[in-house]
Amino acid sequence: MSETIQSYDVLIVGGGVVGTALLYTLSKYTDVKSVGLIEKYSDFGLVNSASYNNSQTLHFGDIETNYSIDKARSVKRMADMVMKYLESEKDISYRKELFSKYSKMVLAVGKDQVQDLKKRYPAFSELFPKLKMIERDEIGKIEPRVLEGRDPGQEILALVTEDGYTVDFKRLCHSFIDNALKEKPDLDIHLDTKLLKIKKNEDHYTILTNKGEFRASVVIIAAGGHSLMIAKSLGYGKNLSVLSMAGSFYTAPKVLNGKVYTMQVPKLPFAAIHGDPEVHSEQITRFGPTAKPIFQLERHNMATFFEYWKTFGMGIKPILSLLNITFDKVLFNYIVVNFLYDLPFIGKRLFIRQIRKIVPSLRLNELRYAKGIGGTRPQIVNNTTRKLEMGEAKLCGDKIIFNITPSPGASTCLGNAYTDTGLIIGFLNNKYKFNKETFEKDLM
Ligand SMILES: Cc1cc2nc3c(=O)[nH]c(=O)nc-3n(C[C@H](O)[C@H](O)[C@H](O)COP(=O)(O)OP(=O)(O)OC[C@H]3O[C@@H](n4cnc5c(N)ncnc54)[C@H](O)[C@@H]3O)c2cc1C
Repeated sequence: MSETIQSYDVLIVGGGVVGTALLYTLSKYTDVKSVGLIEKYSDFGLVNSASYNNSQTLHFGDIETNYSIDKARSVKRMADMVMKYLESEKDISYRKELFSKYSKMVLAVGKDQVQDLKKRYPAFSELFPKLKMIERDEIGKIEPRVLEGRDPGQEILALVTEDGYTVDFKRLCHSFIDNALKEKPDLDIHLDTKLLKIKKNEDHYTILTNKGEFRASVVIIAAGGHSLMIAKSLGYGKNLSVLSMAGSFYTAPKVLNGKVYTMQVPKLPFAAIHGDPEVHSEQITRFGPTAKPIFQLERHNMATFFEYWKTFGMGIKPILSLLNITFDKVLFNYIVVNFLYDLPFIGKRLFIRQIRKIVPSLRLNELRYAKGIGGTRPQIVNNTTRKLEMGEAKLCGDKIIFNITPSPGASTCLGNAYTDTGLIIGFLNNKYKFNKETFEKDLM
């Protein structure tokens, strides 16, 4: 192991979409002198930001019926930043690698869901003026297979908009890195560099890695579920645990033209099942994600088993929270059935029932389990309230921030970077300047 000690004003740990968005923001919109980023793998965006691990959706809150109007307002503000960033890419072939645009809708099926969607529409159409409420015939024009084989007596209704962004968030990581390097070519980026231990000293942090030691005045941990494990090693977030909710997908040859979401079960903090065209191939429709708890911080990586338990915590409180959460009837039934979706033979036969709410005529032989696809969401458990919390969490400590990022963490990456940059400038005693006006002009 090298003994070199490198010193930074700011060190970012994690090269997913959250860490790289922050690197870009610091490089383009501040004059902070020395910024470094370390990533344990050999490339950026290989964990939850990889396009095969998430649903590739830029969430705005218009068709996600688990969002309240306030949550939708906040997510929209941040998703708009990513949208503006994507739209500012002028190179057509690079744009295609970054994102595709499709229509998107949320579909209500049956009397109760139709009533709920009608109630939702007035407030949401004010926030999203392009959102239209459409009935059976119009739904059929946009998505013929949503009508094909559907009982003519079944009530359906949809909210639809043209602005469905499907994003390759791994490519977005690369774009952030490329553009950050254009601003500051001497940025220090270290791949294959894993934080092993972090220590707080009087005026700086020491970060021990497999490649030697780093020093930084301010540290931002953008390591997904690992952020909470690192926070706990410094005494933060002791009242929190994570429930690691793996999401799997099924694919079919193109059966939808755009994104079709189903209505949300109110108690669940995970997106309802939806059908989406693949970001790089509209000939494939992907259905999912499912949600089942696993005891790993990274999907398909058994080496993160022990790290999961370190993050979960071994005391009585997390266990009581877990019992409280899983004894909820809605959640318990949901988790059990989601376990079954991953099983060979039976999984496909059960899951197709969910998909047929969207595409009633889908045949079993059209559907395929997407093996090795789907990451895991570090869903926050609050051991004080003993409840699952929705969305991302940010822990702020002494010149250190920990970002824990279940969905829609990729959609909010630039909004998160905006907040963190403001905090970082404060941590550095306003020695540097955050050019907020330019950020806001460019991206808000
Ligand atoms: C099934 C599923 C569907 C989803 N769908 C959507 C969606 O449609 N839209 C949306 O907005 N969000 C979605 N999400 C959430 C989204 O994928 C994440 O919020 C987002 O990718 C988080 O980005 P991140 O940079 O925080 O984490 P990651 O992309 O996981 O990056 C964390 C990085 O930290 C690195 N790291 C960890 N530990 C260390 C260490 N010790 N040292 C150095 N580096 C380290 C990792 O290697 C990794 O590269 C979905 C998630 C899942 C699982």
